Amino acid sequence: MTASEELRALAAQFFKRLEESGEEFVFAPRAEIVAAAQTGLEDSQRGAGLALPGESLEQFGRRISGCTRCRLHKSRTNFVFGSGDPEADLMFVGEGPGAEEDRQGLPFVGASGQLLTRIIAAIGFSRAEVYIANMVKCRPPGNRDPEPDEIDTCRGYLLTQIEMIRPKVLVTLGRFSAGYFHGRVGAPMKELRGVVGEFQGIKVVSTYHPAALLRNPGWKKGTWEDMLLARRIYEQQGGRPSTGEVYQPGRK
Ligand code: SF4
Repeated sequence: MTASEELRALAAQFFKRLEESGEEFVFAPRAEIVAAAQTGLEDSQRGAGLALPGESLEQFGRRISGCTRCRLHKSRTNFVFGSGDPEADLMFVGEGPGAEEDRQGLPFVGASGQLLTRIIAAIGFSRAEVYIANMVKCRPPGNRDPEPDEIDTCRGYLLTQIEMIRPKVLVTLGRFSAGYFHGRVGAPMKELRGVVGEFQGIKVVSTYHPAALLRNPGWKKGTWEDMLLARRIYEQQGGRPSTGEVYQPGRK
């Protein structure tokens, strides 16, 4: 079978499955054919390429905002795509929206979001200079952890965001995104922090989720070390100069 015949067969299978599932069709066919054709790729790369040719990040987010591909759409108030500079060299990825994020339709705007803003400022950036997103775009009910199948269903959106933004450094917040981007799903945070990983050519640094940091203030020092590492790697990778000053621990 030639490559184009294989692609047509994959697309046909995909549309048949979609029709049988009764799911709402949220992608344009061309993007879905690409996604379907990627099923043979490395697991970590599958799902990217969902943007239409010429589509901006904002347009992509708007187009998929009515997504009903997993059960999380049933309990959401708002779809939470992400926010920040669509050309950021530094990107943060958390787990999923909380109550306040769900209410406002923006990532990291509750108490843990305020802490994240301070963490970002500590290494010299404003929130407008970075990009922030989550593994899943809809709030898991009761702030439970996202289920593996929900992350799997949603990840094409995040991978497409990363593909469009092309950050130089990706900072993961919490064990779900750390495990995924280090290719070690389920590994404890202590094995993922302090290690510079690589995901599709992008450097990966991991730290605690700000919500966990609020519950465990003793992790502040470790978070600071992680963020200094992220800043160092950012500079090594030639990230654009930031507007703020890097916080000096001696000042406190
Ligand atoms: S979590 Fe992701 S896959 Fe699930 S409904 Fe929301 S946007 Fe769609």
